[in-house]
Amino acid sequence: MLDVLAFGAHPDDVELFCGGLLSKLKKQGKKVGIIDLTRGEMGTRGTPDIREQEAKEAAKVLNLDVRENAKLEDGNIQVDALSKKVVINFIRKYKPKIILAPYWEDRHPDHVYASRLVSASFFYSGLTRMESEYEAYRPKNLIYYFQHETAKPSFIVDISDEFPTKMNAVKAYKSQFYNPDQEAPNTFISQPEFLDSVENRAKYFGFQIAVEYGEPYFVKSALKIDNIFDIFA
Ligand SMILES: [Zn+2]
Repeated sequence: MLDVLAFGAHPDDVELFCGGLLSKLKKQGKKVGIIDLTRGEMGTRGTPDIREQEAKEAAKVLNLDVRENAKLEDGNIQVDALSKKVVINFIRKYKPKIILAPYWEDRHPDHVYASRLVSASFFYSGLTRMESEYEAYRPKNLIYYFQHETAKPSFIVDISDEFPTKMNAVKAYKSQFYNPDQEAPNTFISQPEFLDSVENRAKYFGFQIAVEYGEPYFVKSALKIDNIFDIFA
């Protein structure tokens, strides 16, 4: 059983956009996992094997309990019966209380389809007549994280203390990001400005809640609060 299970379309997606929160949850003693939906085999830099090693390294940095790869097709994530069954099996196997999924608007179509696939599986996983290897189970909540596109977040997590760990997890993906020693074609995320943008964004969202670094999240459902002073004081 896990407390939180985060899904990403590609290895490194979750580190980039939820790394602070996951690191914080681990410090709070929670059980946390990542499921990468694909092996990132369409990526311009690195190979699936290199990225698998990097993903293992990043999981160590974040101190994760679980990391698995769903081995769906990179560049062709489908919201079909077979893919839903794959995701439902992970949800039922690990029984997380909370699921993290990509926000549904993004420049990368894989992120869009990953969002729809995980959202649909989150719901169908709770149906007893939806057959799979495991018994029916529905997590309590689905929280979305923003990738390229953002909207007004429902809440922002203070990751000031966790930001260095998050960046170490991101930098475990040596094949993907800026590395002056590496001869490989340049991509959108391998330019040095990309890692700067990760920091600038964390500062931007941190500023909105008056802390050094923040990570924004979105929920569709209304937030249930017992004591408003827990949140607003
Ligand atoms: Zn991605």
